[in-house]
Amino acid sequence: MQFYSTNNPTLRASFQEAVFKGLPEDNGLFMPVEIPRLPEQFLNNLSNYSFSEIAFEVARNLLHEDIPENDIRRIVETAIDFPAPAVKLDDQTYVLELFHGPSLAFKDFGARFMAQTMSYFNRKEDKELVILVATSGDTGGAVAAGFYKTPGIQVVILYPSGKVSPLQEKQLTALGHNITALEIDGTFDDCQALVKKAFLDREITGSIRLSSANSINIARLIPQSFYYFEAYKQVAAQGKPVVFSIPSGNFGNLTAGLMAQKMGLPVEHFIAATNANDVVPEYLNTGSYQPRPSQRTLSNAMDVGAPSNFARMLDFYCSTWNNMRHDISGYAFSDSDTQEAMKEVFSQFNYVIDPHGAVGYLALKEYQKTHPEHLGVILETAHPSKFIEDVESILERKVEIPERLAALSDAEKVSVELGTDYDGFKSWLQARF
Ligand SMILES: *Cc1c(COP(=O)(O)O)cnc(C)c1O
Repeated sequence: MQFYSTNNPTLRASFQEAVFKGLPEDNGLFMPVEIPRLPEQFLNNLSNYSFSEIAFEVARNLLHEDIPENDIRRIVETAIDFPAPAVKLDDQTYVLELFHGPSLAFKDFGARFMAQTMSYFNRKEDKELVILVATSGDTGGAVAAGFYKTPGIQVVILYPSGKVSPLQEKQLTALGHNITALEIDGTFDDCQALVKKAFLDREITGSIRLSSANSINIARLIPQSFYYFEAYKQVAAQGKPVVFSIPSGNFGNLTAGLMAQKMGLPVEHFIAATNANDVVPEYLNTGSYQPRPSQRTLSNAMDVGAPSNFARMLDFYCSTWNNMRHDISGYAFSDSDTQEAMKEVFSQFNYVIDPHGAVGYLALKEYQKTHPEHLGVILETAHPSKFIEDVESILERKVEIPERLAALSDAEKVSVELGTDYDGFKSWLQARF
C-alpha cells in the first residue's frame, strides 16, 4: 500500500515509511493512494467470519503488498485479542462496546496494532526501537498498554508530575518491563518540548533508534476500520439501513469508518457527534471551518478545537462540502444534555453509558427524528469506570470497575523523577540506551 501526503498528492511513501515517520515532512497527513474494495464474497458473508478473521481479511486487503500473509495474521491476532460486542438497547439502537481492551478505551485497537506493526518492521534490526511519548494523561495509558512486552521496543513516557489522575498515573507507572515512566516536574507542554527537542538532537538520533506513537499514525487508523465490519455483521440480519454515531474529538474513529465504507461496507450514513467543541458539526451545517481553542467538557477526551484528522476527511471528499454532507451529519451537545442522556439511557435501558457514548446517543436520537427507519450503532469509546467520579455522581449509583483496571490501582508506582532541563533528560536517555 502506498501513501501520499494531504499537502502533496505526488509524494509516495511505503507503509513502513509512513508507520515510522508518522507524519510526512511537509506536515500533511499520510493518505492511502488507493483503498481497494473487498471481495463481494466476503462482504456478503460477514456472519461466517469471526472478528479475528474479519480483521485479517481487512488488513490483508490493505497490506498484502507490504507484509506476508502469515505475518499479517500474527499481527492481527496478537493485537486484536478482545471482542467488540454490539449490545442492543432497542430495535433501532445498538451500542458497540469498544472498551474490552487493556486500557478500557477504543484507542487500544490502534495502539496495539501499531505496536505489533512496528515490532514486525523492526525485527531485523539489532537495536531496540525507543518510542518517546509525552502525555497529559489518557493517550499515554493506551500507548503503554499497547506496547507492553512488545519484542524489540522500549517505551519512554513523559508525564507532568501531579497533573494526571491517580488511575492514569498507575496506567503509566505500574506496568514495568519495557515501559518506563518519566515523571517531569513541570507541565504537559514541558514534557512535549523535551520530546520534540530529542527528536531534533542529532547526537540522540544518531545513537538511539527513536520513533513516536503519534495519534495520527496511519497504523492506528487501519485497525479502527475492523470493528465497523464487526458491528455491521452483528446487526445486518435486521435488514435495515445502518448508520454509525461516532463521539468525536480528533475524528480518527470517523475517518476509519469512511475507510471501511470505501472498502465496500454498505454504511448508510455517519453521524459526527461532539460536545461544545463543535467545529466539524458547524462545518457540516454551514460550510465554514473555523478551528479554535478547545473548551473543557464532561466528555474531555473529545475536547479538541482543531481536529487533526479533518484534513483526511476533506481529502476523502476532495474538499467538497456537499459531498461530505451527503455521507456525514454533525450534531453538538452541552454537558447538561450529556448528563440527561446518561440518566435516560440508564432509566430506559438499564445500561450505564459513559459521557462520550452519551454524546453519540444524543446525536443518533436527533438524526433518527428525520430517519426513524435507520438502525443506529453508537460507538461506546470508553468504559464508564474510566470516568467513575462523574458517572457515579450523575447516575447516583456505584459503577463496577473491571478486574484489569482494579488490579492496576493496587500495583506499585515506579517512575524516574526528572526536571524540565533538556540536558538532564538527554543524559538519562544516553545512559539508559
Ligand atoms: C480519543 C477518544 C475519543 C475521540 O476519538 P477521535 O478518534 O479522536 O475522534 C472519544 N472518546 C474517547 C473515550 C476517547 O478516548
